[in-house]
Amino acid sequence: MPKAYLNNINKKETNPVLVSLRSYAEEFNVPVINEEGIKFINQVIKLKGIKTILEIGTAIGYSSINMALNNDVEITTIERDEGMFNIAKENIFDNNLENRITQIFNDALEVDESTLGSYDLIFIDAAKAQSIKFFDKYKKNLTKNGVIITDNLLFHELVVAEIRERNLKQLVAKIDRFNKFVVEQDDFDTYIYHLGDGMSLSIKKD
Ligand code: SAH
Ligand code: MG
Repeated sequence: MPKAYLNNINKKETNPVLVSLRSYAEEFNVPVINEEGIKFINQVIKLKGIKTILEIGTAIGYSSINMALNNDVEITTIERDEGMFNIAKENIFDNNLENRITQIFNDALEVDESTLGSYDLIFIDAAKAQSIKFFDKYKKNLTKNGVIITDNLLFHELVVAEIRERNLKQLVAKIDRFNKFVVEQDDFDTYIYHLGDGMSLSIKKD
């Protein structure tokens, strides 16, 4: 399998903080971004000189801590689940990143986006059924030629599977709708990449 071949050659994460956060996520089934996905984001950040990031969906803080440890960036991250919010808070404090990662405890659909700043990158990684709403709501908060990356567009390949279970079928239909929506946004240059769990990269045309 080409993926396994490349996985063998590519370097694995060695930062003990990130290794231990990932193993925690695996143990407690927290759906954090995979290594290929976060590497892609970190390289986009470096290539584009991204300084400010808005993340929708913090979970335990894995992706925000990873971006902060690998880049000179400031991140605002939104989480609606109190348990997750508190675990992320501990992880962020343990790594002395509280001055660079600002947490918002709220539903991202309830946050008043006009109280937020502008961001070079918006990373959408929350409830998969709501991605269109997040995209439309937060695109105003992009800086000139800013970038929106959305995660899990293949949803563990389920988007291309035959599904019977009703709720899952509806969820997958919504992801399919997002995928068709995101490539049609005329004010963005978008491509959905078959990497990580399926990720779209949308660059704002200004
Ligand atoms: N970005 C993280 C993973 C996030 S998992 C990482 O890769 O490390 C998705 C998270 O989004 C969950 O913790 C869930 O509680 C949160 N979430 C889902 N819908 C949300 C919403 N509407 N507003 C805020 N957070 C939401
Ligand atoms: Mg994700």
